[in-house]
This record gives sequence, C-alpha cells and structure tokens, in this order.
Amino acid sequence: MAMKTGEAYRKSIKSLGLKAHVLGETIGDPTVHGLVEPSQNAVAFTYDAAHDKETKTLFCVESPLCKDVVNRFTHLHQSTDDLVNKVKMQRYCGVQTGCCFQRCVGLDAANAIFSTTYECDEKHGTNYHKRFKDYWKWIQKEDLVVDGAMTDPKGDRGKRPVEQHDLDLFLRVKEQRRDGVVISGAKLHQTGMLNSHEILVMPTLTMRPGEERWAVCCALPTDAEGIRYIYGRQSSDTRKLEEYRLDVGNPIYGGQEVMTVFEDVFVPKERVFLNGEIDFSGTLVERFASYHRQSYGGCKVGVGDVLIGATALIARMNGVHKAGHINDKLVEMIHLNETIYSCGIACSATGERTAAGNFQVNMLLANVCKLNVTRFPYELARLATDVAGGLLGTMPSAADLEDPLTGKYIRKYLASNPEYETVDRMKVLRLIENLVAGAGAVGYLIESMHGAGPPAAQRIMIKRQAEIDKKMMKVKTFLGIQ
Ligand code: SF4
Repeated sequence: MAMKTGEAYRKSIKSLGLKAHVLGETIGDPTVHGLVEPSQNAVAFTYDAAHDKETKTLFCVESPLCKDVVNRFTHLHQSTDDLVNKVKMQRYCGVQTGCCFQRCVGLDAANAIFSTTYECDEKHGTNYHKRFKDYWKWIQKEDLVVDGAMTDPKGDRGKRPVEQHDLDLFLRVKEQRRDGVVISGAKLHQTGMLNSHEILVMPTLTMRPGEERWAVCCALPTDAEGIRYIYGRQSSDTRKLEEYRLDVGNPIYGGQEVMTVFEDVFVPKERVFLNGEIDFSGTLVERFASYHRQSYGGCKVGVGDVLIGATALIARMNGVHKAGHINDKLVEMIHLNETIYSCGIACSATGERTAAGNFQVNMLLANVCKLNVTRFPYELARLATDVAGGLLGTMPSAADLEDPLTGKYIRKYLASNPEYETVDRMKVLRLIENLVAGAGAVGYLIESMHGAGPPAAQRIMIKRQAEIDKKMMKVKTFLGIQ
C-alpha cells in the first residue's frame, strides 16, 4: 500500500467525474474550475506533506487497523500523543496554506463513529462496528478524503424533525430495504465535499422516540447516484477567476463549502453504521463535535499565525513597526492565538481511551477551545485591520497597477518604507483583506463562529461537562454545610 502524493490525489478525484452547480452553471469537471482549484490545492498539500522529509514523521503513523503506515488524516487515535500530534499537524497545515484544508472532518467523524458503533453493538447487538472497521480499513489503504456530513438544513428551528412541514429538512431514512436503506434530505456547509472521495453521513442532533428515521449514519461515495452539489459563494470569490492573482490575497490556496442534496439515495447495508438507535445519535453528535472543536485548536491557530505574520510585515512596510502601540497589538494577537492553541493541546493531552480502544478528547476542554475560537479570531482580525490601515479597504486593483497610465501613480503614491516594493506591500494588504473580509474570512471568521456548532452549543456542553454539583458539594464539605 502506498500513500498518495498530491498529484495522485488530484488524479483520483478527477477520475470520479463529479458534477456540480457553480454560479448558475452545471460544470462537468470541478477540478479545473477556477473557484474550486485553490481548495483542491489545499487538500493536495495534506498528501504531499506526508512525503516531505521535513514533515513525514508528523504526518505518517502506523495504523493497527490496517497494519501499515497511513496518513494521519485517516488515523484512529491510539494515544493522547496521537491527539496532540493531530493538533500540531493541523497548525502546520494552517500556517502553510492560510485556509481550511478540509480533510479533518472525515477524520473526526471516523473517530467518533468508531467508538459509538462499538458501544451501540454492545447494547443493541447490532453489527455496525465490524462494518465500520472494514470500511475504514479500506479508506486507510486507499488514502482517501472523506467528508463528514452532519449539518441538516433544520427548517423551523422551533420544531423537531418530525414536526417540520417538509420531512426532508432533516436528512432521514425514507425507505428500509432488506439490502440497505434509501435516504433523503440535504447537508449544508459541507467543507471540501467536492474534493472528497467519500461521505460519512451523521445525524445532526440527539433524536427522541418517534424520530428513529432521522437517527442514521452511513457512508456513500461522492459519485453515488442521486447526490447533487451546489457550490457555496464566498466574499470576493470571483477574484479567483480574474487574470491577476494579486487581488485574490491568497494566491494558491482556498477553502470550499457545498450544499449537498441527497435525492432518494440508496445505501447498501454494509455501509450503514446507525439505523434507528436514537440513544446513540446524541453520543455520535457530541463526540464528533468535540473532535472537531479540538481541530480548531490547530487549524485556526495556523491561519492566525499567517495573519500575525502579515500584520507584523505590513507594520514594517508602513514604517510603524517601532511604535509601542503597534507592538502591544501584535503581542495581543499572539497571546490570543496561543491561548487557542493551549486549549487544543490541553484537550488532547487529557483525552481518554474509549471502550472501543481509540482515544477521545477531553470534551470540556475541547468545548472551551472552540468557544474561544468563536471570539479570538475576530479580535485578531480587528487588530490586523487596525494595524494595516484604511488602504485595506480602498486599494486600487492589480489591473490598474498593470495599466501603464495608472500604474505609475499607484507605485508613486502607495510607496512607503523604501526597503519594500509597492507591489509587495499590496500583496500583504490583499492577504490581510482575504482573511478579515474576503474569501478567506469564510474559513477564518464565519467558520470559527459556526463550524462544529455555534457558541450556544459549546456553552451547553461546558455546563454539562463541568460537574457543578460536585463543585458545590466540595464547598459544602469545606464549610461544614449539611
Ligand atoms: Fe480542518 Fe479546520 Fe477546515 Fe475543519 S475548519 S476541516 S478543522 S481546516
């Protein structure tokens, strides 16, 4: 078995022949579309890093499941060291790409499904765990990208799945067959879906009695019949289609989100890992969410490193780097960024073995990590905007820079610290713009708020995990209160 290179990965995705709806057009080969390509570059990076002699020890790991070396993006964590290394790897990918590299959702889904199916089988005598192990062994051997699909459209938020005017607003099993199930519904915000080989569908919330149809977890190939992809817009996304790369900000990489519709899609029995066991739907949701909240303690920190570097550089280019208030702002950015990282490392280092044998993060600390992520990147973006100056929002285009008539004025009047070329100053400003207000802000800001659940979801989990009764009891004992 050989781990794929970035190039082999690109070929394998191309060979699937996926179709997608992008900006009102149906496109036959998303892999060569200007909007999709940067996101594919980011995924390809996760493959090449496993072959790079500088990083292969972090990206490659021995898997007891397939008894071979695999890319860590497909690994079932065997220790707290594995959990810590996952976060380190994500920070590295974040700082190298400056965007969401999309491959972690499948990894987080796999680890959650592995332990949940084991416990479900113990209680209900089902056969899901063995099925999932066989499936994931194949994923590891083929070194595939898997999309973890959790978020349902949810319709009227005040109503349960069974009360919605359209039952598809929560993805459900529409038909039970002897050889499998037929599912119907949609998953929103699907990170990297068009760059994936496989999809792991999961329930979106804890299901109650009467909601068995919605308690479904299964795997599908992305080219399965009945699946439709509608590409998500990002701010300033069409800059990626323009002639000049300078205005994009991040010249090579980018993220991707897709609305995915499942129209009566058949799933064979051997790919079904939960089918009506409502008591395990919540377990699966909580475990997946916790893993992904841990993930943000790595990836968002890496992108934060890019923003801090760009902010320090623009301060130098603007000639203000010696000012005390600029240094204070940079230190504040570093402090916030490293606080997120500390949470990512802490929830990993204090993780625990599950009954199935893989390792689960410390759920309380993972939720604290993500709650910080809903706030700190916004503060980093505010400070970067402050330091960069108003030009961030008013700078002329790359096309005007190239125009012989206007270009000379732009070079003359946007010149600053003579150690730097005007065009380089423009590149750094565009990179900051990308992260605080452009296409990159989807991954760095909006995703930080809502990805892996909004702040209210983390607050609920924090309250649930914090053992407040135990703390009160300690105080009572301490004070001799009956
Ligand atoms: Fe990975 Fe972060 Fe993107 Fe989630 S948001 S897929 S953790 S890079």
